[in-house]
Amino acid sequence: MPQNHVEKVIIVGSGPAGWTAAIYAARANLTPLVFAGRPKTVPTTVLPGGQLMLTTEVENYPGFPEGITGPRMMSCFEQQAVRFGTRIVTDHGLSPDVSSPDDGHSYSYHECKRVDLSARPFVVTGEDDTEYQTHALIIATGATANWLGLENEQRLARSGGGVSACAVCDGALPLFRDKVLAVIGGGDSAVEEATYLTKFASKVCMIHRRDQLRASKIMAKRAMDNPKIEILWNKIVIDVLGDDRISGVRLKDTKTGEESTLRLGGLFMAISHTPATEFLGGQLQLDDKGYIKLQDLYRSTTSVEGVFAAGDCVDSVYRQAVTAAAMGCKAAIDAERWLAEEGIE
Ligand code: NDP
Repeated sequence: MPQNHVEKVIIVGSGPAGWTAAIYAARANLTPLVFAGRPKTVPTTVLPGGQLMLTTEVENYPGFPEGITGPRMMSCFEQQAVRFGTRIVTDHGLSPDVSSPDDGHSYSYHECKRVDLSARPFVVTGEDDTEYQTHALIIATGATANWLGLENEQRLARSGGGVSACAVCDGALPLFRDKVLAVIGGGDSAVEEATYLTKFASKVCMIHRRDQLRASKIMAKRAMDNPKIEILWNKIVIDVLGDDRISGVRLKDTKTGEESTLRLGGLFMAISHTPATEFLGGQLQLDDKGYIKLQDLYRSTTSVEGVFAAGDCVDSVYRQAVTAAAMGCKAAIDAERWLAEEGIE
């Protein structure tokens, strides 16, 4: 790619937000360029395609009455984007070469190392230091769920063995029906996930490391008033038990040091998320948790004109594939309109 070539739009990220932005931008003849990212371990493996690559069955995305696996869904999003002219930065240059839906992603996609937003056109640098110039930029890098980092936790999360970081995504699966389930964490998410799980579980234990919830008062009350929720105070999980399926956890009391076993049919992490915004180097306004601040609640505009953001790197509340996809659509439409206003065809 010649150094003086300027892309109309570059999209960083390959989850539902990134690919949907690519589909819309491609159909608007903007021939978007996507940095899909590489697998990384942080501490669980994060594949290009975002958090859905770690989800087994997606049953709440409209249009798939039988459900679809997360990796297959992302591969379909990608193929749809490529069909309309999206290009992807890979080890071997720019590729329209799509992985087969059954294989998941090709792993040769490139990471975006840094961006320079100090002047227009913006400069986006790949991991091999190749620089790409672009008029508009869409950030859709998502967020990663935080995990404890225990070996069995990771193994069972990857194999669909009853360990998950999203109750709303996975809680309704048959394997969790009428079981004793546990949620780790004491924030609003933990309460929300525990409450949601009471629809399916025989009982839900919230495992919290302190003797006070971090959740807002109203949410905390909701948990404490729910007869199906039991809060286990001052407890941390030191091991996850089970071979193919989780059978329980080893707990340690943070005050007494006493260890115990809790039998479980499912375990859900709700210990916060980390938005993937560090590579922005402080050039976009972020909130105190690192999520990109939008200039207008209903748009995708950021603190830098020409830079748009979508998906979980913006959203600490909904975090659903369908909400991320919708935001990706908005970002592409905003970018297209902005390019037209700027007279960039
Ligand atoms: P929070 O950061 O608010 O809470 C994370 C919880 O996880 C804390 O209780 C924390 O414990 C615990 N935790 C963190 N790390 C560990 C660890 N390694 N081991 C054990 N426990 C750990 O994240 P949330 O995802 O709950 O919420 C994020 C934001 O989204 C908040 O602003 C929240 O208000 C908002 N939100 C709002 C909702 C609503 O209004 N309906 C629903 C969901 C989220 P400790 O308390 O000891 O630090």
